[in-house]
Order: sequence, then structure tokens, then C-alpha cells
Amino acid sequence: MRLSEVLRSELNTLFLFELEDRYTVESVFYRGDTLCVSTQVGCGIRCPFCASGKNGLIRNLTADEIFGQYELLKKKYPIRKIAVAGIGEPLMNWKNVREAFFKFKERGLKVSFYTTGFPTKHLKELLHLPHSGLTISLHATDEKLRKLLIPHGGSLKELINTLKEELPKLSKRKRNKVSLAYLLLKGVNDSERALRELAGIARELGVGITLLYYNKTFNEFRPVSPEEYEKAFLLLRSYGIRVTLSTRFRRDKLGGCGTLVVNRNAKA
Ligand code: SF4
Repeated sequence: MRLSEVLRSELNTLFLFELEDRYTVESVFYRGDTLCVSTQVGCGIRCPFCASGKNGLIRNLTADEIFGQYELLKKKYPIRKIAVAGIGEPLMNWKNVREAFFKFKERGLKVSFYTTGFPTKHLKELLHLPHSGLTISLHATDEKLRKLLIPHGGSLKELINTLKEELPKLSKRKRNKVSLAYLLLKGVNDSERALRELAGIARELGVGITLLYYNKTFNEFRPVSPEEYEKAFLLLRSYGIRVTLSTRFRRDKLGGCGTLVVNRNAKA
């Protein structure tokens, strides 16, 4: 694996890594201390709002390829935190992701995860690892819509039941590190009713919500307006829920959530 290209915006630095078999995957350095790493070449979950899963899964990254994204950059960039939030669903490549996680931890790095929570048998294990944050994608409060938004991410009911079972086993400090991600898509999942249902789920589970702002990629989805985004935030806050908002880095055109791709420079 080698670093083949570096792209910069005002906020983020995007790295393209060429793998032995010539595929390229991407990492993003953001917020001055964090590297967002990829775990798969493509993604089989195929969320329709995300560029990373557009062409499905090609293969898993090895533990060395996951860790290597950090290794190749660590001398030049002051990386203190790893976000396992790039291309791929970490739980679908669990053995290698787990191995890379412990390598990161050995180097004293803080590691957080973004996942759909599928398969739940691995989520159970992840919940108990010494991570620094775990954000689980909900994006919908009913089974039908979630299936549309996270087509191959398992059942919502099973996810919620797993969380109901496992969260009470965690210390309060650890539970505070878990949140549900909700990507606001205009006219799709942003109704007041849906948001109140979301608040109900988060309250019952005793976790926070990460309210994500949609970065336009190749598809027909639309982001909500800044006013609607703020209104959703205030509504959730009115339930006393801890709400994390999308930072500017996560909303940047270069390297923002859902914008990383395999083979960026390949001719169509
Ligand atoms: S949002 Fe995550 S799980 Fe969904 S397609 Fe993109 S990389 Fe895969």
C-alpha cells in the first residue's frame, strides 16, 4: 500500500491510498488531530445517500491496511485520534478491524467508531471494547424506512433489542459514549413525528443523538435547511437528550461524511 495523492480544502486533508491490487481507498485528517480511516474497499450495506457504498463491496481491508493508513501519515500529521468512519462497515470486517483497533490502542490513540450496528453479534463485542465513542446509525424510526436508507444493515428491531440488552451492562460513563446517528434528509425522515419517535428511542436507551447534516453526493436526496436543522436540534433537546451536531469538518465537500469513494480518479 502506498500514499498516492493528497487533496486539501480549507478544513480537511484527504489521502488516497493505492493498495497492492491497485484499488484506492481514502482517509481524512480533520480537526487538527483526527484521522478518519476506511475499513473496506467499498461497502455492501449500500446506503443510498452515501458515495462509499455506491458500487457495493469489493473486498475487506486487512488489519495492516487499516492500520497502515495511520502508519503512513503519522510522521507528518499530529494524529491523536482515529475515527473508524471512512469507507466500509467496520462490523462487516470485524476480525481485521478489531485487530487494527488494538494496534491503535497500543500506540496510545483514542479510537471511535461509526457503524450501522450490523451484524449485532459484533456490535455486542464492540460496545464493551475500550473505545472513545460509538455512533450507531439509526436514520429512521420504522423498519420500512430504515430498510430503504440502510438496505443491508439488518433489522431495526434486532438492533434496538440488542442495545436494550447490552447498554444496561455498561457503566454510565461508557454509556455516555454511545449515541444514535440520525441523518436528516428533507422530506424523508425529518417530520416532527419521526423526530419525537427518535427522541423516545434515545430516551428509552439512555443514549445521545448525533444529528447529521446531509452532504450532497450523487443521488436525489436533499439536506434540510439550516433553520430546519436547528429546529430539529431544539426539539430533541427539549426531551433532555444529549445532541451532537455535524461539525464544519463533517460537512465539508472534501472528506465530509458519506463522500469518500473507492478509485476516485478512475475513468468512468
Ligand atoms: S454510510 Fe457507512 S454503511 Fe452506509 S454505505 Fe456508506 S460506508 Fe457503508
